[in-house]
Amino acid sequence: MPHQTPSFPPPQAKPPVSVLPIHHNWQTAASANGFEIIRRCADPAYVELKCQTCGRAHQKRHSVILGSTPVCPHCVQNRWREDAAAAELEWLGRDPQDPKRGRYRAPCGHEVSRQFELIKRIAGGACALRCETCQRAKEEAEATAAGWTLLGPAHEHGVNYRLYRHECGHEQEIARMNMRTERLICAGCGIGWSASPSFIYCMRFQLPGLPALVKLGFSRNPKSRMKWQLLRRPDLSEHAQPSGQILRSIQIRTGHLALCLEKKMHAALRRSHPGSVVPPQHYRPWLKVKSEIYTANLEPVILDLLDRLDPGTPAPD
Ligand SMILES: [Zn+2]
Ligand SMILES: [Zn+2]
Ligand SMILES: [Zn+2]
Repeated sequence: MPHQTPSFPPPQAKPPVSVLPIHHNWQTAASANGFEIIRRCADPAYVELKCQTCGRAHQKRHSVILGSTPVCPHCVQNRWREDAAAAELEWLGRDPQDPKRGRYRAPCGHEVSRQFELIKRIAGGACALRCETCQRAKEEAEATAAGWTLLGPAHEHGVNYRLYRHECGHEQEIARMNMRTERLICAGCGIGWSASPSFIYCMRFQLPGLPALVKLGFSRNPKSRMKWQLLRRPDLSEHAQPSGQILRSIQIRTGHLALCLEKKMHAALRRSHPGSVVPPQHYRPWLKVKSEIYTANLEPVILDLLDRLDPGTPAPD
């Protein structure tokens, strides 16, 4: 008996092309809208349409052909791409989050998502595309130049405001235009109006039960800073009251420059005289600061640094 090869079912064939008819009135309706029905699909509700404009095919319910005006998705894509090119953008595709938006590559290289209608207006010159990434970088740089960090949008004020953090740690909502022109005052430390001068000072403190200490700092008003912001005056009669004295203050052109200079001086002092930095627990009962206090032997060193400071070119009137 000859060897019988087992019979297997034939490999899975493509789904059979529908043999359902293409009705004449469908073809007429399709043709009136610039399409040709080339076949029925496996799903009897669908037909395949060839676009007479772009020559590409897509599937559509035959009810759409009879009941409304079918559009070619390829031609729509082409228009979006053309609109993008006219707006000097690169078309990247539809925005999966929003059917009214596309994704585009801006000339700066960043990817943006915009409504199709807006792209048309940009192409027509009615408005310009503003890349949010570049805009953010620009606003961050403006803030940095003024001594602040951009944190994000403002919550209490309008769209022209942003939330910023000052170098002193204080957070504040400020109009962006004021940040740009540095016309602002930090409610935390009083530094501001960068056009107005500030002072770097050296103060000596005599605190009960402690040897003399010195502080290097900056302020728009060192006297008031010493009196109201630095010294605690506990209401306890058995304690002698702490006292302070401004040894020298040097006028610096702007608050921001004063802040930068003062930071550099502290860094240099900490490097050159690490043993002269007084731990805050010693002066905490008397002074409302957490650092920047040194032993009195640094007094001549600090005064010498102050004498050699470059206060910056005076601002033009
Ligand atoms: Zn088409
Ligand atoms: Zn950009
Ligand atoms: Zn501040």
